Amino acid sequence: MKILVINSGSSSLKYQLIDMETEGVLAKGLCERIGIANSNFIYKANGTTIEQQIDMPSHNVAVKLVLDKLTDKEVGVISSMSEIDGVGHRVVASGEAFKKPTLVTPKAMELMEEIKDLAPLHNPAAIVGVKACLAAMPNTPMVLVFDTGFHFTMPDYAYMYAVDYTHYEKYKIRRYGAHGTSHKFVAEEAAKYLGKNIEDLKIITCHLGNGSSITAVNGGKCIDTSMGFTPLAGVPMGTRSGDIDYAAAEYIAKKEGMDVSEMLTYLNKKCGMLGVSGVSSDFRDLSAAADAGNYRAKLALDMFAYGTKKYIGAYAAALNGVDVIVFTAGIGENDNRIREAALKDMEYLGIKLDAKKNDNCPRGTIAEIQAKGSKVKILVIPTNEELVIARETVKEAKLG
Ligand code: AMP
Repeated sequence: MKILVINSGSSSLKYQLIDMETEGVLAKGLCERIGIANSNFIYKANGTTIEQQIDMPSHNVAVKLVLDKLTDKEVGVISSMSEIDGVGHRVVASGEAFKKPTLVTPKAMELMEEIKDLAPLHNPAAIVGVKACLAAMPNTPMVLVFDTGFHFTMPDYAYMYAVDYTHYEKYKIRRYGAHGTSHKFVAEEAAKYLGKNIEDLKIITCHLGNGSSITAVNGGKCIDTSMGFTPLAGVPMGTRSGDIDYAAAEYIAKKEGMDVSEMLTYLNKKCGMLGVSGVSSDFRDLSAAADAGNYRAKLALDMFAYGTKKYIGAYAAALNGVDVIVFTAGIGENDNRIREAALKDMEYLGIKLDAKKNDNCPRGTIAEIQAKGSKVKILVIPTNEELVIARETVKEAKLG
């Protein structure tokens, strides 16, 4: 069985074709600058990469290009489109309209239209992506898989904001979280790796990438997560502020003459590591600058590690203990110094890192980096959001 996973952005489309028997990737790639001049098409299969400058005026054209390449006589990995058994679409925001992966039907697409304001940059793109795939493969089952899905097990006192309750009722203002497919994947992988039943584990999953979120997972279910109504909340991120006092935002807005939407663009795109350091949002650049003596780069890194540590402490409290801490995503998987700083001085919680194992952590595979005697297991686990989307597609479309 083969599942195509589609991740549509407003001007991009990422794709992976996954063989569900082996759960291996048959082909993957990216369509960039859709609807913009100089569109770029990338296709990777059988160890080779093809990059072409092809005009892609719409997502429909991009999807057709992907399908043409997948079935190409020379570089393709399938002989016809009918070999694609299902398509899984990543969707950023669900509101309360979708609490689990959902089969694409006219009714589901109507609901998608209704909630598109929840993620104005991302959800409309997902709708366009679904429609483009439906145009090319009208008889293939498709499933919407939401970044928020894993977090619907949070109790009300964790997902509610302390605002006028009628605003929750009217507008569904609450914490939804994000990166749900990643948190779910690494939590399940951790249990599998440790040979334990996930129902018996208290896990804190740290998805630390350009966007970062931390989740408390009790018995396989999310009980709290650091992102909020949108991915702006939580730890400071590449370009996002993370948690901030709204009065401070209003003060800056007034002084700088920004309106509300300009303020939100500022908080999402110009703050975080980039804003503090003035150097970059990329942790490799920040580390290099900090090593060269740049105070603001070092401050940004310190703030990130401290923010992560605070959430770990908070979630150890929420979980009434912790058995496993997982690091994943670009920073979590690669940045040993951030892992070390985030876990510093937490022996009183039973968290003790092995500095050597942490520094020599192999890439691309699961690694165990706690010290001997550490009560808490500390794991580095490569995430695989596409595989979760593919698995959910098989389940929801009843393809298994
Ligand atoms: P992601 O959003 O998961 O792709 O993560 C992207 C972030 O991971 C980038 O901003 C980088 O700062 C960080 N990253 C990737 N590779 C490394 C590395 N080898 N060392 C430190 N940070 C890295």
